[in-house]
Amino acid sequence: MYRTILPFLLSSFLILPSPALAEHTLPSAIKVDSKVAVLCNKAMKDNVAWKIVESVSTEVGPRPDGSEAEARARTWAVAKMKELGFQNVHVEKYNISAWQRGTEKAEVVSPYQQPLVLTALEPSAATPADGITLPVAYFQTFNDLQLAEDGSLKGKIAFVSNQMRPTQDGSSYGSQGMSRFVGPNLAAKKGASAIVIKSIGTDHSRAPHTGHTKFEPGVIPIPAAALSVVDAENLERICKRDDKVMLHLTLTPKQIGERESGNVVGEFPGTDGSAGTILVGGHLDSWDLGTGAIDDGAGMAITATAAKLAHEVGPHRRTIRVVWFGDEETGGLGGDAYAKQHSAEMHALASESDFGADSIFKFNVNFPESAKDVTNRIAAALMPLGVVRGTDVAGDGTDVKPMLALGVPAIDLNQDGTRYFDWHHTAEDTLDRVDIEQLRQNVAVWSTVLFITANAKEEFGKVKPKE
Ligand code: ZN
Ligand code: ZN
Repeated sequence: MYRTILPFLLSSFLILPSPALAEHTLPSAIKVDSKVAVLCNKAMKDNVAWKIVESVSTEVGPRPDGSEAEARARTWAVAKMKELGFQNVHVEKYNISAWQRGTEKAEVVSPYQQPLVLTALEPSAATPADGITLPVAYFQTFNDLQLAEDGSLKGKIAFVSNQMRPTQDGSSYGSQGMSRFVGPNLAAKKGASAIVIKSIGTDHSRAPHTGHTKFEPGVIPIPAAALSVVDAENLERICKRDDKVMLHLTLTPKQIGERESGNVVGEFPGTDGSAGTILVGGHLDSWDLGTGAIDDGAGMAITATAAKLAHEVGPHRRTIRVVWFGDEETGGLGGDAYAKQHSAEMHALASESDFGADSIFKFNVNFPESAKDVTNRIAAALMPLGVVRGTDVAGDGTDVKPMLALGVPAIDLNQDGTRYFDWHHTAEDTLDRVDIEQLRQNVAVWSTVLFITANAKEEFGKVKPKE
């Protein structure tokens, strides 16, 4: 009897799905090129990406913008790209206005005398060499700083905290990061003599997180620094016990004038010069505190290795160009310089990797209607790698943004950011943070995307970006 009941029961389940299932429409079956599986297998055993991050961390180390170390990094990069088989390898130079870190010290003078660990934000102004001693004006959030009356911070050191939590998509960086991105500018406008912020980070260590901050034209920069997360928590406890906290702060960074920076470019030429170039890359510069392994040695390694693997499958229609950008960290002039030099060339796609080395979990596109099927093929091909299609419009990235702004199609490959802000822009950005298995997953995803887009018959828009 079960023979007749069982099919009936099964079909009942199929006919009456759960409400959640009922909302899903069945996707159409997509045929994925068999070469994708071969490519992914190769990528999941790859050691090339790891060797690139290992090499830049070991042989170059920190490479701040406009420094002699950044110049050495360009020499390293040219040799590395040639060794990897890239063609037309060259440097595109430009000048930037450079900043250099100096002494950085802070201590609570009263009510409880003790030192605090902090690091200057770029382009912080300097205090006198023997420092300043001033009362602290404490703000729990950036919003609280915004609410402070104009002029109320005169003769004070603003202290702005935040409550950043780890998030998979890194979204807490955007919101909690406001105290770094624009806090110093706002504090300066409200009359503050200096500002210290709680680091924009998710760790609980004594490694402070540096980074760029923006002063509007006409606003005179003030000394600005980030306390380590635990030192900021300590200062918060002190501020909550006493409203007359005095801080001694010494910061002696300086502007060192015009210096050279540059983008290192290499490519694998395609068979159809009119189909548009695919631009991918990461940034070569790094902050001075760590060795720039996750920010952004990993991104350079992932994109270059993926390009090499996609190229090795066989001739491809589109040129795959890899750019290792300079000056991403202190203003993004590398991306601007690239767009200035290449805006007249047809680009089919632009995308960058700059979020560490952890796995990719989602992708978003900003493709024209003509390339809709390409998106479906990418979605099917990335499924075995655990990557889902998102619903946002792609367009991330300091380095490629100037090209995207000209109308070039985009794909964002979103990495897991849960751990990234534990070490981002700190002395802890070192090679041991790179997990080779997750690095390989990145290479597999990127090489799949490059293989599919470089060979797609569909057009990504036959127009050249607007000049
Ligand atoms: Zn970066
Ligand atoms: Zn960075």
